[in-house]
Amino acid sequence: MPVARTIAQQLERASWIRRMFEEGARLKQERGEANIFDFTLGNPEVEPPAQTLAALRRVVERDLPGRHGYMPNPGFPEVRAAMAERLSRESGLDYRAEHICMTTGAAAACNVILKAILDPGDEVILLAPYFAEYPFYVGNHGGRTIVVDTDADFLPDVEKIAAVITKHTRAILLNTPNNPSGRVYPASVLRDLDALLSRLPNPPLVISDEPYKQLVYDGKKQPEVAALIANTAICYSWSKAQALAGERIGFLALSPRLPDVAQMAAACAFANRTLGFVNAPAIWQLVMAEAADACVDVTAYQHKRDVLCDGLASVGYDVRKPEGGYYVFLKTPVPDDVAFVQLLLKQGVLAVPGTGFGRGGYIRLSLTVPMDTIERSLPAFGRALGETRKI
Ligand code: PLP
Repeated sequence: MPVARTIAQQLERASWIRRMFEEGARLKQERGEANIFDFTLGNPEVEPPAQTLAALRRVVERDLPGRHGYMPNPGFPEVRAAMAERLSRESGLDYRAEHICMTTGAAAACNVILKAILDPGDEVILLAPYFAEYPFYVGNHGGRTIVVDTDADFLPDVEKIAAVITKHTRAILLNTPNNPSGRVYPASVLRDLDALLSRLPNPPLVISDEPYKQLVYDGKKQPEVAALIANTAICYSWSKAQALAGERIGFLALSPRLPDVAQMAAACAFANRTLGFVNAPAIWQLVMAEAADACVDVTAYQHKRDVLCDGLASVGYDVRKPEGGYYVFLKTPVPDDVAFVQLLLKQGVLAVPGTGFGRGGYIRLSLTVPMDTIERSLPAFGRALGETRKI
């Protein structure tokens, strides 16, 4: 049975990721794991916080009856109330349980909200560079992706966004702290975007995908997007903040300021069920109600960022330190990032070309690697840079 044309095309578009893995696996076999520096995957290499694991033990040991059955599709009411209370504290908005849908991570939250708002042919604006899965999420629900470049500093360019909004635009998908650029969108830019949207008769929804919200460096904070932009739906996850990527737990939060928020909430609950998620894992919902604010050690990531960025600068790269998130988005010394990834590969370094995120001329390096990998990889980065000078 042949697969659908659409998925065959999507598999082809995503095949550079698979090729990278295959090449990495081959090199590890050929040269030994210790000689290959794999910066491709954003998979947390630290353990979840002790507070989270203690809450998990408590929840399991409590052994309450009826806790493993079906529940309302958006999640346990008391868990949603706890999340709403937390969001209200952070944003100053009046979130209630009915605005929250617990989800199997941020990826599910994005799919639930897109399913709830898109009709075939509706448009969703993505800001490049963007998380490489977004175009597939939009396509899952019949939407059309409209890509707008961010500015030279990777910040949203409000004029460029204004220029592509049409009567078919249903959403703008923002991601801050950004994967891959590491930028944290400042309040001023978010306010400008809100000003633009508030002038429109039917403003698109801003979907704010925030799985890295807690991972912000140098003592800074991610501005509260929902407090600054009226029509916002937040997609959140504990994959990163609590190193729980394999457990699949997060939420979708509809701003209390959204018109027709009750109907939107009903649509999201239905989408959560009919997309096949049904509801977020029961145990992890209960754990999050107890340990929502726990967080991995952000200073450890910051330290890795500094060692990698300072090391790359010392061997001759033009480096911008990320303000948050898991990744360094490094300018390549030659414009062709795919060719540069091949040069790095020869030196045993695996990186992802920026082209895959909609911005060529850069590569993405993950900070979720052991410090030892960072330190030992720097000469290899230096040799690859040297190769470009011979070309
Ligand atoms: N959004 C962004 C920007 C991501 O980087 C990721 C994961 O890497 C996701 C969403 C998916 O996160 P989750 O594991 O919570 O589904």
